[in-house]
Amino acid sequence: MAAPRPPRFDAGAAEVARTAAAARDWASLAAAARPCTACPELAATRQHVVVGDVPPTGRPRFVLVGEAPGATEDETGRPFVGRSGALLDQLLTEAGLARADAAVLNVVKCRPPANRTPRSVEVQRCGGWLRRQLELLDAPVVVALGLSSAKWFLGPRTVLAGVRGRPHDVDGRAVWATYHPSAAIRFGPKGAPRAGLLADLTAVAGSLEGTA
Ligand code: SF4
Repeated sequence: MAAPRPPRFDAGAAEVARTAAAARDWASLAAAARPCTACPELAATRQHVVVGDVPPTGRPRFVLVGEAPGATEDETGRPFVGRSGALLDQLLTEAGLARADAAVLNVVKCRPPANRTPRSVEVQRCGGWLRRQLELLDAPVVVALGLSSAKWFLGPRTVLAGVRGRPHDVDGRAVWATYHPSAAIRFGPKGAPRAGLLADLTAVAGSLEGTA
């Protein structure tokens, strides 16, 4: 399966895709993304473009992809550092995974005002950065956290319950889709999203056994 492509031409998306494609490494992509103003509303209200975290080696064992930065991420410029990030770190550890081995990204790299859901045009524009990040990182395993991320990889009709629990081949990568940690917080420690997220991360850890 190939990741869905933008449905129609958009000049902002084309410009992001062109600029991202010219980035030869992570540092040059980050430098090009930080001043991005392709989405005027987000560019006017954000504090930081949250480009993402990569391991010091630049070669992650797996990639985590969330929806968009929240308030703490916008303040600090780093992904998954608020409450959702703390729970994600805890569940990764329980599953036998290490965040230090992961790249941590978002579909949309600027915080939407009041944490609203990113608009499709924003997802379309920012997708150019994410596509190039995935190429540069060349990680064989991706974990899509939450429905927005799952839809980016698996298509707009994706229903989380229908795709969880198994890998999906997307452009030669194994893509796992699971709950976003914010859903696990919202439904509480005994809720289904927390248990499902832990089960899925544990399955990902199993799939990575024996890899470097
Ligand atoms: S959300 Fe992405 S495409 Fe839009 S302004 Fe921010 S970095 Fe640029």
